[in-house]
Amino acid sequence: MNAGAGTAAPAHPGAGSEQIAEAVRRLRAGAVVAFPTETVYGLGADAESAAGVAAIYRIKRRPSGHPLIVHVPDRASAEYWAEIGPRAAALMAAFWPGPLTLVLTRRPGVAALACGNESTVGLRCPSHPVARQLLAAFVASGGHGIAAPSANLFGRVSPTSVAHVFDDLGAETPLVLEGGDSEHGVESTIVDLSRGFPALLRPGSISAAQIEEVLEEPLEGPGAAAPRVAGALAAHYATATALELVAPEALAQRVAQCLERGERIAVWSQRNPGAGAALTWEPAPMEPVAYARRLYATLRRLDAQSVNRILVEEPPAAAQWLAVRDRLGRAQAGAGAR
Ligand code: AMP
Ligand code: MG
Repeated sequence: MNAGAGTAAPAHPGAGSEQIAEAVRRLRAGAVVAFPTETVYGLGADAESAAGVAAIYRIKRRPSGHPLIVHVPDRASAEYWAEIGPRAAALMAAFWPGPLTLVLTRRPGVAALACGNESTVGLRCPSHPVARQLLAAFVASGGHGIAAPSANLFGRVSPTSVAHVFDDLGAETPLVLEGGDSEHGVESTIVDLSRGFPALLRPGSISAAQIEEVLEEPLEGPGAAAPRVAGALAAHYATATALELVAPEALAQRVAQCLERGERIAVWSQRNPGAGAALTWEPAPMEPVAYARRLYATLRRLDAQSVNRILVEEPPAAAQWLAVRDRLGRAQAGAGAR
């Protein structure tokens, strides 16, 4: 296989077919399995299994009203859950498999277990080869979709590697399929098509402009809908350490202030604010794709430094940085609360 130039996906060993078969057996028996996707690692259960879906909520300590995204291998499987209108068909053709979740009106009679109290279903078809293998085998065994939120505790920083899953779930960690470091690093873009107009519920690496280009109409912002999006809570993706977003021009002064007060700080910024040993500095990528890929691993690493405060230099306000800025803002809102 040509793994040559132009492929951004990190190399990984992948899962063997025996491991996939074991994962499918467990899912069909109502147990959970963690698996890699191109966005973050997911904690999966058969979307039609009451025991499996309940285990996700229990292990993640996720509030019960928050619907889960149902993962499918292709459009044909999506049709089991919802009628695919012209907008959905166009977006699926353009972006599936990939980091785009579509919220559609649920077909009457299909399992509502994963859908919170909504009359809708959130559907996503991931591109990660291990997720695709798992979904193909799961559907071949008679299943219809794998409900999967991120494989971490509710409200915390999402996992982008197998080690992160173990760090968060500890003794509750189920079988985890190995898939290397996540390629995108931020959760899927979510577009709601269930309201007669398309609305962006969560920004991700597929941008609003890319969606609008395919739909040939404008997207409403999240304010237009009132969904139960876990990622739409003001505080989410939070570190245990206090985290502050600081404008580039204010960074040097804020660093000096904190150090004067005797605080130990970690700084994630493009240039080293240079204060010697009192400060842990992590260089920030200048480019949004690389930044997103490293976002959660960096927040986790800085959170583990036993510092009093994490200072993150605010990324540019440009549209390509929207997903990253969204996650950082929510991380700041929830940080330090534990
Ligand atoms: P995550 O936090 O990545 O697990 O993404 C879950 C989010 O996807 C939810 O909190 C959502 O609101 C959105 N979502 C999933 N399923 C539905 C649904 N049936 N109706 C509305 N939004 C949904
Ligand atoms: Mg999550």
